[in-house]
Amino acid sequence: MSEPIEEFRGRARAWLNQNMPPLSPAAWDRRAEGRRAVERDLQRRVWDGGFAGICFPAEYGGLGLAPEYQDVFSDESAPYDMPFTFNLPTFSILAATLVDFGTHEQKLRHLPAILKGDELWVQFLSEPSGGSDLAGCLTRADRDGDVFVLNGSKIWSSGAAESDYAMCLARTNWDVPKHRGLTIFILKIHQPGVKVEQIRQVDGSMEFCQEFFDDVVVPVTDVVGEIDDGWTVATRLLTHERSAVGGHSKYISGRSIGHDPSNDDDNTIVQLVRDLGLEQDRHARQLVAEAQVRQMVSRALIDRVSRGIAAGAASPASGAILKLFLATGVMRRTEIGLDIAGEVAAAWPVQEPHTPGQIMSEMSLWRQGISLGGGSNEIQRNIISERVLGMPREYAADREIPYRDVKRTGG
Ligand SMILES: Cc1cc2nc3c(=O)[nH]c(=O)nc-3n(C[C@H](O)[C@H](O)[C@H](O)COP(=O)(O)OP(=O)(O)OC[C@H]3O[C@@H](n4cnc5c(N)ncnc54)[C@H](O)[C@@H]3O)c2cc1C
Repeated sequence: MSEPIEEFRGRARAWLNQNMPPLSPAAWDRRAEGRRAVERDLQRRVWDGGFAGICFPAEYGGLGLAPEYQDVFSDESAPYDMPFTFNLPTFSILAATLVDFGTHEQKLRHLPAILKGDELWVQFLSEPSGGSDLAGCLTRADRDGDVFVLNGSKIWSSGAAESDYAMCLARTNWDVPKHRGLTIFILKIHQPGVKVEQIRQVDGSMEFCQEFFDDVVVPVTDVVGEIDDGWTVATRLLTHERSAVGGHSKYISGRSIGHDPSNDDDNTIVQLVRDLGLEQDRHARQLVAEAQVRQMVSRALIDRVSRGIAAGAASPASGAILKLFLATGVMRRTEIGLDIAGEVAAAWPVQEPHTPGQIMSEMSLWRQGISLGGGSNEIQRNIISERVLGMPREYAADREIPYRDVKRTGG
């Protein structure tokens, strides 16, 4: 018998109040130096308090409770600084995929460590030759007895330099069509043969990385799912990603990130209007109303799609609808913020970081990112048309021929 939900809420509220620091502007910048170390410590506290992995299986360190308990904990944790970085991609994408496809031994080895805050995970999927055509992966893993030997390169891996493990997609068979010769591996990031280079982004942050693999030895026991059937695992991983990014994942603990540019629950736009004394300005009021209505629609959409998927009435691919709505919504919300902020978003006093104007300015620099990360808007539209609406598949000249014979650039 599970604890009655209102008792759980009361217990969570009291524990959070006693143990977690209040949410401060410093928590908004999850890419700040040292932030990951802080979050590892915060996740350890959640573990020690008995609230980690609410929906993860009890056998592997979780609580094995229903998503309603996770929702209650997330609600109650809103005023506090939480281990936001763990939510995406560690909990909601990679640990979720490990729950689905990992062996008993892999789950025992990694899930409790993840829930304790000891392991941050990232995705090694995109390659310099392109990210949308994921099945066109050129990184290779060649079998040698009980190990594979990995060579190639991945790119745009968020946070790899400060993380511990990756799920890495590699080609293990060149004699079959491209979707059938792939395998997913658990890869320790910091080990001989793996070089991680950070990439400076337009806002100055260094979150993106490129990795180079030079004869990296990976045990066969670190294959996730079946050898050569990595596409099945990758497809599920991407389904988890679309759901998580779109706002629907039972594995997310607390709000998805400290300062979430995709919604106005944090009232940034309202605060901006107040700061600028525009409460009575008709144009500003219209824009605030639009932002609020979009937020209401977004919540209703997340609720409807999530329930549909959970009940089996909607295809899991419907997460692409949420991802696309989020990406287009972020663009519009940023435009609204910039319209209201005007010159305030172009310059701000150095002594006063994280004013709403500054937040809008930073958002404008990376607003496009959400329409690429987790698959571009065009790819989401393809998924919606083909896998949700059942329309004919996009033509692909390379779908049925051995990958070895596919004409390609980049290797
Ligand atoms: C914020 C962010 C975080 C990311 N994090 C990670 C990460 O942690 N790990 C990781 O592996 N990758 C990550 N990525 C990379 C991301 O997955 C890729 O950027 C994305 O898949 C697109 O690949 P690409 O940039 O190579 O563009 P390309 O694949 O080269 O595409 C270029 C353009 O062509 C369009 N296009 C391509 N194919 C089609 C098609 N069939 N139909 C219609 N249009 C098409 C695309 O929509 C895009 O506009 C991240 C990206 C961002 C922005």
